[in-house]
Amino acid sequence: MTKHTPADQLLIGAHTSASGGVHNALLEGQEIGATTIQLFTSNQKRWEGKEINQDEVKRWQDTLENVDITKIMSHDSYLINLGSPNEDALIKSQKAFKEELRRCQMLGISYLNFHPGAALESSEERCLDQIVASLEAMEELAAKGTTRLLIEATAGQGSSVGHRFEHLHYLVSRLHNKIPIGVCIDTCHIFAAGYDIRTKDAWDDTLKKFDEIVGLKHLYALHVNDSLKPLGSKKDRHAALGKGEIGLECFSYMMKHPILRELPKYLETPDGPPLWVKEIALLREFATQ
Ligand SMILES: [Zn+2]
Ligand SMILES: [Zn+2]
Repeated sequence: MTKHTPADQLLIGAHTSASGGVHNALLEGQEIGATTIQLFTSNQKRWEGKEINQDEVKRWQDTLENVDITKIMSHDSYLINLGSPNEDALIKSQKAFKEELRRCQMLGISYLNFHPGAALESSEERCLDQIVASLEAMEELAAKGTTRLLIEATAGQGSSVGHRFEHLHYLVSRLHNKIPIGVCIDTCHIFAAGYDIRTKDAWDDTLKKFDEIVGLKHLYALHVNDSLKPLGSKKDRHAALGKGEIGLECFSYMMKHPILRELPKYLETPDGPPLWVKEIALLREFATQ
């Protein structure tokens, strides 16, 4: 039996701002009472990734020594589509993703969270196979560091894949013997994709499905967001905790569940630091009840 981690030591944080340098994301995390953070290591809306120089790595490491923040997650650029049917976009995506992985390795980042991809005019099956091929080609690079790639469960907006547990299973099962891979559940996304988590029973049922199809051992982290749009809407619109269609019972139970409670959690709720301070405190409070 593993002992429960005390509430104040649970890994809870948010997607903080790396504006002015990646180390600033750590400092913002400390200010809001976070014990972990997610960040963009580069501009998420641009193809040209920023090189991280040795000065920045040093500043990052120095800052890291002075804050109580671990299991750091990077979120890849929104432009990257590792399953693109368009050759030009695919090559750009693969290059940008490799650069992202290199930056994560330089910074000793634990998890690189990424949206699996979008089929566009192609089929979901072909898109999933292209994602596998894109990642298989990074086997050598992935082995050079300790960063684990986490497939983010998606809402299924547009033609994006990853909104069915079967998609996540397909990717994990094809890749887990080649590269360090796993899954990050975004509560808003899976709810919008049609998996109910509003009550204890609904959460248990959804986790049972996840375990049967993907395997809970492949679940490494959670993005914690309420959803502005209803169950099964396939619309990715985050809301503050308790201010959306999911409601607080979901997050309260999540903080008591023996497995979910121990996983690192990253808020991506709107309004930024003033809201995150309160939500981090609320989640810790749920964990002590
Ligand atoms: Zn995301
Ligand atoms: Zn997310």
